[in-house]
Amino acid sequence: MRIDVISIFPEYLEPLSLSLLGKAQSKSVLEINIHNLRDHTSDAHHTVDDTPYGGGAGMVMLPEPWGEAIDAVLASATGGTRATLIFTTPAGALFHQRRAETLAATEWLIFACGRYEGIDARVAEHFATRAEIDAVLELSLGDYVLNGGEVAAMAIIEAVARLLPGVIGNPDSLSEESHGTSGLLEAPAFTKPAIWRGLEVPALLREGNHGKIAEWRSAQAVERTRAVRPDLLPEEG
Ligand code: SAM
Repeated sequence: MRIDVISIFPEYLEPLSLSLLGKAQSKSVLEINIHNLRDHTSDAHHTVDDTPYGGGAGMVMLPEPWGEAIDAVLASATGGTRATLIFTTPAGALFHQRRAETLAATEWLIFACGRYEGIDARVAEHFATRAEIDAVLELSLGDYVLNGGEVAAMAIIEAVARLLPGVIGNPDSLSEESHGTSGLLEAPAFTKPAIWRGLEVPALLREGNHGKIAEWRSAQAVERTRAVRPDLLPEEG
């Protein structure tokens, strides 16, 4: 998979070269390119924002640098691959595991990381009409407001990239975790020692009866989901 990220703070994205995502890039399972939006400005100050039409607080990101920057990324396409262009925004659709799975099945993601009051709305509108773009998505990490789209882009990239074959050592862990095939939260996990600060690991987990362990885990998953995220439980009755 190829991923391009455009930001005014490219150094914010440096952690994408660490850990499993770094290894995936060295194995060529994943290619991540970071671009500086300011390289696509035409004035001496590298201006990327201006006051909002209609008034109001804050600044809005200019359409021209965004247009130039996304055009430049699209111009580097190889083999007719079409991109999914993602605008990270608190005003977007909620990002979740099912969306991560859908995105993991695509070949090329481009992330536009907003700052200030966000990006001029015509940028998304324009690129939705472009033949090189498969889909334009506005995605939110959650119901809160961040200072910029970089953290949101990194979270989405990590959630998507770990689903690519060869990124996670044991692919079974992908289906057995929270938000996996059951849609529930995962049961609590324990490791050695069996007793730590007076707290004992449930005996059943140490007895080696895999059928009973599976039953215990699925009951715990339902109980935990009911307590913390009842909205994730399938409708009962
Ligand atoms: N004025 C915008 C609004 O109310 O919808 C908020 C702008 S926010 C201060 C600046 C940038 O941070 C956004 O353009 C977006 O890229 C990013 N951002 C903030 N919260 C986010 C969230 N929950 N999910 C994804 N991106 C977010």
